[in-house]
Amino acid sequence: MADLRVDPLSGRLVAVAPGRSGRPGAGAARIDPPTEHELETCPFCEGREDRTPPEVLVLPETPGREPNTPGWSVRVVPNKYPAFERPEVVIHAPQHVRSLAELGRPQLELVAEAWRLRAAAAAAEGKVLFAGVNEGRAAGASLPHSHSQIVALDEEPPIARAERHDGCRLCALLERELAEETRVVAEAEGLILVCPYASRAPYECLIAPVEHEENGFGPRLGAAFELAAQVLGRLAELDAPRPANLWLHESGHWHLELLPRLNVFAAFELGAGHYINTLAPEAAAAELRG
Ligand SMILES: [Zn+2]
Ligand SMILES: [Zn+2]
Ligand SMILES: [Zn+2]
Repeated sequence: MADLRVDPLSGRLVAVAPGRSGRPGAGAARIDPPTEHELETCPFCEGREDRTPPEVLVLPETPGREPNTPGWSVRVVPNKYPAFERPEVVIHAPQHVRSLAELGRPQLELVAEAWRLRAAAAAAEGKVLFAGVNEGRAAGASLPHSHSQIVALDEEPPIARAERHDGCRLCALLERELAEETRVVAEAEGLILVCPYASRAPYECLIAPVEHEENGFGPRLGAAFELAAQVLGRLAELDAPRPANLWLHESGHWHLELLPRLNVFAAFELGAGHYINTLAPEAAAAELRG
């Protein structure tokens, strides 16, 4: 019998059914090493600034640097193929790195600062920033060079809004996770990293401040990225670099959701909101703790 669990934030229903298809990840999507062609043509690498639309922000600010030339650590450019609103791309490093896992803390802090500055610019226009990272083609990354996609939206997106309730359910969830301990992967700098009770997929992680905190673009974001980077690094160590999505929700109590993409969601998941997770989050947390 599957173990049925309800995620208190989203209402998703998850059947935890270990062993249904052997070890998760066997035969699942992985990220292959870069090809010569990728390295030679990547438009996000330093020195190819002319291959993106003109930058809107670079960090750190360097007096005397000509715009759209080398000499930056993090660079924000408009997305070349805007679908709606005003999407931008945050390029996470001048060298060709392919995962947050390859970035050290100072670089992750610069990425956090870029998100923070663009969130403030969006807020000044009465908009809300949605920010996320796609790693690997199976997770929707159009280019392998590590980057995030940010979009200034007119209003809070529906999935984040649906996580708001009377009273903070994330505070309640974290209290339970801390009491039960089995799904806690790490705690650092006032943040907790768990494979939540109703994880919808193998190794899904939630990173949040232990104490209720509303502003997701605050001073702890870099530390939260570091925890996410550790999970991605650990997954690569366990088997191979894996495709993954990561996004920030403010939703009253901010958090990062990190969703490794070892499986493909099908009609039941997408249409019904019922998920089958073949790796119990307790086992996933134990593996990630290593
Ligand atoms: Zn590159
Ligand atoms: Zn809370
Ligand atoms: Zn969320």
